[in-house]
Amino acid sequence: MRSISILGATGSVGDSTLKLLRKHRADWRVEALTAHCSVSKLADLAREFDAKIAVVSDEACLPALREALSGSGIEAAGGRAALIEAAKRPVDITMAAIVGCAGLAPVMAAIERGGTIALANKEALVSAGEVMTRAVAEHGATLLPVDSEHNAIFQCLAGNDIAEVRMITLTASGGPLRLLSPQELERVTPDQAVAHPNWDMGAKISVDSATMFNKGLELIEAHHLFPVGLDKIRILVHPQSVIHSMVEYRDNSTLAQLGPSEMMVPIASCLAWPKRMETPCEPLDLAKIGELTFFAPDEERFPATRLARAACEEGGATPAVLNAANEIAVGAFLAGHIPFTRIAALVEDVLQKSNHPKRLDSLDDVLAVDAAARRQAQAILENK
Ligand code: NAD
Ligand code: MG
Repeated sequence: MRSISILGATGSVGDSTLKLLRKHRADWRVEALTAHCSVSKLADLAREFDAKIAVVSDEACLPALREALSGSGIEAAGGRAALIEAAKRPVDITMAAIVGCAGLAPVMAAIERGGTIALANKEALVSAGEVMTRAVAEHGATLLPVDSEHNAIFQCLAGNDIAEVRMITLTASGGPLRLLSPQELERVTPDQAVAHPNWDMGAKISVDSATMFNKGLELIEAHHLFPVGLDKIRILVHPQSVIHSMVEYRDNSTLAQLGPSEMMVPIASCLAWPKRMETPCEPLDLAKIGELTFFAPDEERFPATRLARAACEEGGATPAVLNAANEIAVGAFLAGHIPFTRIAALVEDVLQKSNHPKRLDSLDDVLAVDAAARRQAQAILENK
């Protein structure tokens, strides 16, 4: 039996992880399940999986969680400190599935324990960059990439020497707005932006997918996970999302990983690693899919990947600023305060105006840059 904690258990990646655990119930013991404030869902899951502890990071939700868990024998806790404490509990694997930089401190806590972390929370790695990869090395932790592209690359690198890589190709579906004109993009509503053609995901990553910030964040994520040099990572639009990414070697051999557009597949690859486990998804039917197509990204209509590449080249605090500004911009767009095309414009504005440090040395440094960039983005929004 193996033990697992799921940070962000009530979200989309949390759901897919728990679906797998349901299928393999006898093999897993659940230690901690966390959520921001979805009390009844969290309490139901904690009871179903007989978790040791359930944590709401929003402390105001703790009384309701206590009540929902009364008589169950499951510990209830609340607040940021409790979330971090839960992430420190020893387990065989931690699923890091909180959305946004809010997940960084708990991920760092799990890393400092020297654990194995299945990382879905890309914003944490984008913001912390070397602070996180250094901590992984120092504490002997293991990061397994859940993001489908990075999981694909991880699989395509297995058994090969990374020094022999000529090019990593990150595939991108292009999102639901791929074919819209600049004028049409101006008028996109939150409902249109979150309606992803291939993947069923949380609201934030769905908007990121529509703006291509998701691919921008993934470029930075890949840069930290697979140190081949940023110039050896390119983006290719592949609307069917069948090839999840590719690695080309210097002998002109290209390895690709294919699979259904179901997060259960990369999640299973992390949970079972280095073995495999069965997933309750339909296998790929290539004859039914028929055609796979590929396009170069259009950075005029979707500037996010250009901004992310420049931020990654600059390094230091710049990717954390980009991420924080994007989180604020996505929130404002989802709340109906700004048009779709303002998301990238706001990020660019914050990047230009912020006076951030060239180097980040600690988690506190990252969190300070993140907070300052959020304040700056808010200030820009409120002045207009
Ligand atoms: P989601 O919005 O569906 O779920 C987020 C989870 O985090 C929920 O459990 C929520 O309660 C919790 N949470 C939200 N704000 C929090 C806060 N401030 N503090 C603590 N917990 C908080 O998100 P998701 O789509 O499951 O994505 C989770 C992460 O995985 C993101 O970083 C996303 O980019 C990444 N990811 C998701 C998918 C996908 O298919 N959904 C694919 C690849 C990567
Ligand atoms: Mg992805």
